[in-house]
Amino acid sequence: MKILNTGMIAMTGLLSVGTASQQSAIAMEKAKTSNPNIIVFFCDDMGYGDIGTFGHPTIRTPNLDRMAEEGQRWTSFYAAAPVCTPSRAGLITGRLPIRSGMCSEKKRVLFPDSKGGLIPYEITIASMLKNAGYSTTCIGKWHLGDQPQFLPNAHGFDYYFGIPYSNDMDRVDGPDYHDACMHPKIDYFNVPLMRNPEVIERPADQNTITKRYTEEAIKFISQKRDNPFFLYLAHSMAHVPLFRSKDFANKSLRGIYGDVVEELDWSMGEILDKLRETGLDKNTLVIFTSDNGPWTIFNENGGSAGLLKGGKGSTYEGGMREPTIFWWPGKLKHTVIMDCASTLDLFPTFCSLADLKVPSDRIYDGYDLSPLMFGTGKSKRDVIFYSRDTEVFAVRKGDYKVHFKTQDGYGQDKPVIENPPLLYNINVDPSEKYNIAEKHPEVIAEMRKILERHQASVVQVENQLEK
Ligand code: MG
Repeated sequence: MKILNTGMIAMTGLLSVGTASQQSAIAMEKAKTSNPNIIVFFCDDMGYGDIGTFGHPTIRTPNLDRMAEEGQRWTSFYAAAPVCTPSRAGLITGRLPIRSGMCSEKKRVLFPDSKGGLIPYEITIASMLKNAGYSTTCIGKWHLGDQPQFLPNAHGFDYYFGIPYSNDMDRVDGPDYHDACMHPKIDYFNVPLMRNPEVIERPADQNTITKRYTEEAIKFISQKRDNPFFLYLAHSMAHVPLFRSKDFANKSLRGIYGDVVEELDWSMGEILDKLRETGLDKNTLVIFTSDNGPWTIFNENGGSAGLLKGGKGSTYEGGMREPTIFWWPGKLKHTVIMDCASTLDLFPTFCSLADLKVPSDRIYDGYDLSPLMFGTGKSKRDVIFYSRDTEVFAVRKGDYKVHFKTQDGYGQDKPVIENPPLLYNINVDPSEKYNIAEKHPEVIAEMRKILERHQASVVQVENQLEK
């Protein structure tokens, strides 16, 4: 379905950015002196229970553990969706993927033959920060369209280096898909490695991909510049097929998945060390999180959601609640934050840190996290929508979560309509084991109203995943 007058809306979007650009001279001058650097370290398919500080017993993550000890562990932090493309669209735009056409019932994510992507109407974190004088770099998995008009360079990033979609795509002859992911070889996946719009290697040597992303990130951080920077480091790991460099092969008690996570931990260690070494740590916010939960159909090659139910693709907690750490020495006090937050909140939070106004010409789904981060108050967020593709299956408000529909992430053909809906106290029962619907019909009625209000706010737009 198409939105009316897409062209006009696209122009409005550009005008909005253009207007911000015209007004940005003062902001750019200010940015040079006071605005913080921002790094988002985004893992792929990592589960809630996959790092030491979130309870994994046999994966060693000393750098992330230290980061959490010095910074903040966020225990109710959600991705915008339970699969890659919609989750990333939500993070980078601050809007639920249904608003940008970046989710679909027919195709769950974008594929290499997809003609669609994140349209120019959408304003990204990078384009906002760039207008405020930031240097912007995207390293790693993009997955918001691999046609030139959708790539990071077209969406506010000065520089791009990475595999533009999932590392299990562009399959060539060989074992069937599942076997190829369980026993991977580089040649089974003919994925490109790009530098800006150019393909520089194909198939990408994924054995060294985590290492090379890290080297690119360090190079970017080390560049002498007189303005702040935004680094979006979206690692291709720990998405199957799993690869790691020689230094990490066969080292973890948790097998190859553990090797991969331990290399990601090393990557974060390199980045934090570089920030400390250069003194940039005092003026840099670093956020660690993941795009969706573990892909459990890949058995031991998939991660673990720990005590949470379900995994990637599902609207149970394990599909969308992510292990998350915020770090900014001297600015953020060490604590554990249990309040609800979402990757959707990063857009308004970064706008706030850069002294920018969130555009007023469209609906945003995030809230500024500054009060929570800085310990000065509460966030305005108390609702989480859990969508499977285009449909909201579950809603959380405060302590409670209602499932109107349920379905496994992968494997179960059809959803089950829950009638009456399932109700859990998600703080008392984070594993979603004990249905208390009978005790609280009034909570379910309230959730229905919240869902109806949300649905009424959604405008149909052209679907980008089905093109
Ligand atoms: Mg993913």
